[in-house]
Amino acid sequence: MWKCVSLLYKWRDMTMEKPAIEGGKPVRETPIYYGHQYIDEADIQVVVEVLRSDFLTCGPKIGELEQKLCALTGAKYAVVCANGTAALHMAAMAAGVKEGDEVITTPITFAASANCALYCGARPVFADIDPETYNIDPKKVEAAITPFTKAVVAVDYTGQSVALDPLRDICKKHGLVLIEDGAHVIGTKYKGQPNGSLSDMTTFSFHPVKTVTGGEGGAVLTNDEAYYKKLLLYRAHGITRDESLMEHEPDEPWYYEQIALGYNYRMTDMQAALIISQLDKLPMFSSRRKEIVKRYDEAFSGMPELFVQREIPESDTTRHLYILRLVPEKLRIDRKRFFEALAAENVCCNVHYIPTYYFPYYEKLGYRRGLCPNAEKLYEEIISLPLYYAMSDEDVESVIRAVKKIAAYYAGEHA
Ligand SMILES: *Cc1c(COP(=O)(O)O)cnc(C)c1O
Repeated sequence: MWKCVSLLYKWRDMTMEKPAIEGGKPVRETPIYYGHQYIDEADIQVVVEVLRSDFLTCGPKIGELEQKLCALTGAKYAVVCANGTAALHMAAMAAGVKEGDEVITTPITFAASANCALYCGARPVFADIDPETYNIDPKKVEAAITPFTKAVVAVDYTGQSVALDPLRDICKKHGLVLIEDGAHVIGTKYKGQPNGSLSDMTTFSFHPVKTVTGGEGGAVLTNDEAYYKKLLLYRAHGITRDESLMEHEPDEPWYYEQIALGYNYRMTDMQAALIISQLDKLPMFSSRRKEIVKRYDEAFSGMPELFVQREIPESDTTRHLYILRLVPEKLRIDRKRFFEALAAENVCCNVHYIPTYYFPYYEKLGYRRGLCPNAEKLYEEIISLPLYYAMSDEDVESVIRAVKKIAAYYAGEHA
């Protein structure tokens, strides 16, 4: 028996490429990471121009970027801000989220999607994901609604649009505000319309790993004037110079009022100029990302050891993340070992995301594992592969070679 097994391993070693983690040669010499920004000379030039101008903040680039975001998405109003987290906080405040309220969101996201509820004194409620698209399941959202529910924060995970039609219907029926956390979604369309104008409010992030970057930066988009006015207030301390909002007669020329408690969530003009310049490249970023995703999908879709993310036909997706999902029953190693084996090949991945309620801060608030079984299972099986505009074709092929080499070597019944 032992002889049989050892012969089998010998045969495998003779016919298969050995993974670097077992002493073989890595597929590439230099490491590649899961995400990286792309900055060209035009980007550098516009930032330098702002530095030579009169306004570093509160200047003309802010309005220019807001108009550009409206033109891109079809939203009536845009309010740019310091980062995507500030955008979510402002959106939650504008939605009227307050102490005693509940906000429904997905656990497969960055912590900020739920933290925005906590900032307002409300309680995040986690609804499970669809096991194949990985986005929040509208049926699970509806089941989680209570008399305390105020809003839904729906995340377009990986850049694929959430199922907006059913979510909008549910929110309308129950009088809830739909906030779309669109940190991944810029460049994506739902039923032919750009995400950004399709929910009560949509938030963007311009962090360097996202498709378009300003170093840091965020935005809230809306078609609703009342939300827009609130967002402007919350971005700047709750202070206004708009006479129609003031409680006292403004009889001095310098007079302004603080009428709410807001924050300093402003964006600088350097960031805004960089984002404007980056947005000019969005069509190019978008088509390259689509190309790479297509190549990965082709390479992995026939492999029994891997599951390829399903897309809803309504979403024309600019993917922010490519999620490699292992089929554990078909592999002799677990996700951790697979991840380490990729790193040994110089393919340095990441995992998006640890379910939010696994974190100690959430545990201390009383959340327990087991809340969302689909999300928890997904988390055990995923690895984020490199995906960004500046990857060369050789980079893409090396990632595919590494994944195939490891999957083939460790294919077999799970121990
Ligand atoms: C990046 C991200 C955020 C936060 O954006 P920042 O600009 O980093 O504050 C929020 N939600 C999701 C889903 C994200 O990926």
